Amino acid sequence: MLTGGEEKAREADVLKEHFGYDSFRPGQGELVGAVRAGRDSLGVMPTGAGKSLCYQVPSLLFSAEEAGVTIVVSPLVSLMNDQVSALVAAGVPAAFLNSQLSAAQQREVLARAGRGDYALIYVAPERLSDPRFVSFAQTTPIAFVAVDEAHCVSQWGQDFRPAYLGIGPFIASLPARPVVAAFTATATPRVADDIVRLLGLRDPVRVTTGFDRPNLHLAVEQLSEKAKLARIAAYALERPLDSGIVYCSTRKQVEQVEQALLSAGVAATRYHAGLSVDERNANQRAFVADDAFVMVATNAFGMGIDKSNVRYVIHHNMPGSLEAYYQEAGRAGRDGEPADCLLFWNDSDIATCRFFIEQETDNSALSDEERGLVRVSQRRRLAAMANYCMTTECLRSVILRYFGEKRDGADGDAYCGNCSNCEGGIDAVDVTTTARSVMRCVHELRGRFGKGVFADVLTGSKQAKIREWGLDRARTYGIVDEPTPVVKEIMELLVAGEYLEVSEGRYPLVGLGPRAREAATDEFRLYMKRKKKPASGVKGSAKAPTKQPKAAKAAAVLETDEQRELFERLRGLRKQLADAEGVPPYIVFSDAALRGMCVVLPRNDEEMLSVSGVGPAKLKRYGRAFMDEIAARPLA
Ligand code: ADP
Ligand code: ZN
Repeated sequence: MLTGGEEKAREADVLKEHFGYDSFRPGQGELVGAVRAGRDSLGVMPTGAGKSLCYQVPSLLFSAEEAGVTIVVSPLVSLMNDQVSALVAAGVPAAFLNSQLSAAQQREVLARAGRGDYALIYVAPERLSDPRFVSFAQTTPIAFVAVDEAHCVSQWGQDFRPAYLGIGPFIASLPARPVVAAFTATATPRVADDIVRLLGLRDPVRVTTGFDRPNLHLAVEQLSEKAKLARIAAYALERPLDSGIVYCSTRKQVEQVEQALLSAGVAATRYHAGLSVDERNANQRAFVADDAFVMVATNAFGMGIDKSNVRYVIHHNMPGSLEAYYQEAGRAGRDGEPADCLLFWNDSDIATCRFFIEQETDNSALSDEERGLVRVSQRRRLAAMANYCMTTECLRSVILRYFGEKRDGADGDAYCGNCSNCEGGIDAVDVTTTARSVMRCVHELRGRFGKGVFADVLTGSKQAKIREWGLDRARTYGIVDEPTPVVKEIMELLVAGEYLEVSEGRYPLVGLGPRAREAATDEFRLYMKRKKKPASGVKGSAKAPTKQPKAAKAAAVLETDEQRELFERLRGLRKQLADAEGVPPYIVFSDAALRGMCVVLPRNDEEMLSVSGVGPAKLKRYGRAFMDEIAARPLA
């Protein structure tokens, strides 16, 4: 029996030896420790937090002790191949079992697994009921079962996979019960309860890590449809060698944006459910291999994309919820290096989302009442998303508050210094008085009209219909001295803050929302976001102190032209090696590791090992080639 200290030391050795990292990230140490102590575990960590290591490190230790193999259940057949390549490159004996392998290959994998050749095997959930796999599992010691994307077991999530329901019974059928750990990025209590119950976790250790991703630069911009295209093309052209994803809400938009990028000379590709499986796979491979730098896609793309060096994620349209947004945007910067998350939106995005919520008739399994409840919660989620677009607060604070976390600010209202609102490119215009007038008007007219009519009444429109309906005699007629579009925007702000609500139906009516009462209190304030006018002088209402973003200190920063030039050469070498081995470039080394090399300029093994992301396994495999390239620095 190892003492706690010895065990920790061995975990740290494995982390350095195989993965080249000096320390665990938040949550990883707790989860690895729990699993090693024989406790079932549930890890809730956002995308990019590093869930994989939480089962990979224990698997190596179990295997070294001959305690048995680790089974990793993963829903994504396309991903297993890459993950296993990455592990093998890191000196971890691993294999996968899924429908991509022939029957003979599967038999081979199982035979080798039976001999103890692998520390871990990835399996698709469907495999668990395959008779050959069942008999393997009955006869081979299994130390540990890790369930990735565990929320797929829950019907409450969007990604429900019926085959996941077979995992619990599979585990229960094993001759000796292994340690079981489940991992997900979905944080709602309902899904977590489902995971514990349906997978049969026994008194699990629950670890939830922060949803803050300090290296992500968050930004929102209100743009017309046309301006979006030009903005995206210009953005991509400025960084031609960076990988990025552009999310669109429809297939048609995917085609348009891809065309715009291609004609601007950007190496773009596309992904949506309307393409053939072959094209989808080919395009995805091109993106992962850095042959195409920009992926334009619907939300069908991404779950299980393990590319760590995505430098930006642009949303061409506003998604329907912050959950969806943060998950998609979170695919940027998984290597911990600075990355951009840009959200482009306009009013029509909100209208489209609203339309989809009211149109939804797909949930045929639900009763009318349940459907009504689903709609209410969808509307709330949309309001929060729209609020993110319109708020003048720190964007990071808004997200973290939404996920139930507080930013560790000194005085409650915190500024991250790394989002478009904190950077102060905006003015917060106080529109409280107009907002109060809007609330009074909606109250007076009892929510019987749409946004346009309310705006007409408030601004004192002379239109015939206003007179015919007697609305010119309303007490709130003409009490607002703002242009109609501004009044409409303030109404959207009020909806986003849940002070007002937009009803369902073809003619959405505006009524009082759940927080309407708060708008009548003295504390109520509403701010509208305005781009700062360049000529407006120094005053402004920017309250944000200019702070250095946290990410800057963590990552090696390339300061000189020589370093940047070397980085490009190392990137070229990485691509060559990756192509020769048929693996994605980030599997050879992460961008962060390359950057580290540019700063450290390692000349021997020891110096190479001091670079974060370089461990002995990778050193052996690739160290020489990279050190040669570094030594071959052209004379400046
Ligand atoms: P998740 O599955 O939670 O989305 P991954 O397991 O794919 O995240 O990890 C994301 C990235 O973070 C990977 O590139 C991984 O190598 C890196 N990473 C994970 N753990 C560490 C660590 N302790 N130190 C440095 N980088 C890490
Ligand atoms: Zn901020």
